[in-house]
Amino acid sequence: MTIVCPACKKENTGDMVCSRCGCDITPLAEIISAAENVLNHGIAALKRKEGKTALACAKRSWALKNSIQAAQLGFFASLMINDSVERTRVWHRRIKPNSQQFSSAL
Ligand SMILES: [Zn+2]
Repeated sequence: MTIVCPACKKENTGDMVCSRCGCDITPLAEIISAAENVLNHGIAALKRKEGKTALACAKRSWALKNSIQAAQLGFFASLMINDSVERTRVWHRRIKPNSQQFSSAL
């Protein structure tokens, strides 16, 4: 897992202390790990066709880390549960923030 140090922006892999400035990046690693864990639960729920659970996991994962994967999960879970068009558009915009054309087609 690569973690960008919030203090000096150096990319660190493996170590929980920034190799440039010595900043402890353990909390960031734990947040990223939690986001990935809940994302994986959501993907499994989506595969079981449990859209509401998948959407809840997408929201939790997104709150921890704004990732394309969480946005994609939220988008597909929204489609699965026939969520409102506007809420589905929000997830789509998170996947492709600069893509207004496709969003307006939803
Ligand atoms: Zn640093």
